[in-house]
Amino acid sequence: MKVLVPVKRVIDYNVKVRVKADQTGVDLANVKMSMNPFDEISVEEAVRLKEKGKATEVIAVSVGPQQASETIRTALAMGADRGILVKTDAEVEPLAVAKILKAIVDEEKPSLVITGKQAIDDDSNQTGQMLAALLGWPQGTFAHKLELGDADAKIEREIDGGLQTVDVKLPAVMTVDLRLNEPRYASLPNIMKAKKKPIAEKAPADYGVDVAPKLKTLKVTEPEKRKAGVKVKTVAELLDKLKNEAGVI
Ligand code: AMP
Repeated sequence: MKVLVPVKRVIDYNVKVRVKADQTGVDLANVKMSMNPFDEISVEEAVRLKEKGKATEVIAVSVGPQQASETIRTALAMGADRGILVKTDAEVEPLAVAKILKAIVDEEKPSLVITGKQAIDDDSNQTGQMLAALLGWPQGTFAHKLELGDADAKIEREIDGGLQTVDVKLPAVMTVDLRLNEPRYASLPNIMKAKKKPIAEKAPADYGVDVAPKLKTLKVTEPEKRKAGVKVKTVAELLDKLKNEAGVI
């Protein structure tokens, strides 16, 4: 059973993101980039499936610039077997990524595609769902736990206020949530081994996909700065402020 894991190169989650002065986007110059944290969880889950003998091959795919091959290398160092880099310098929207992934799925025929629930740069939360729709496959989103059978998968999902378990027939798409597992750090020997693992280089046109954007970003702004708090002297004053200033009681 093959498992396909899409991995996106995004701004590292520790970086304080700065909006460009002209508000057209965020500043990417000299900013540390890393694998989308949810995708680390997907890779970990896929590698665990391989270690348990349930998956035979784990393929990591990234759509992005040449440097996205580093993101694929990270997946290979964690235990994925080979990579596919679909090279483009364009900012690729979820629908275009889903179309490219569909074409790769048609070629590779995996039984399971594991994506992150969202990319932390665009927060779209769309790619996995769109891919499932394009393929006509079942999907289990926001996965908290996976039990993989031969012909189906039980996926426990994180939903508001609780968990829901769904049973999906394979092949299927799963998108992962934060608590599914704790991704491993790649060991030095595995980083070295990963250098020898193959990464195929492709272009969106090889899959017949036009990545021209369908959306136009009008404006990007910083979140509003939090105002300083005030100290109140009495409970009566607190109640007065809650009632007459904040309007919450
Ligand atoms: P999004 O729909 O943009 O929030 O992304 C959800 C998931 O889709 C990510 O966690 C990745 O697994 C996958 N994905 C999105 N964009 C890309 C990309 N450019 N390359 C590879 N995987 C991607």
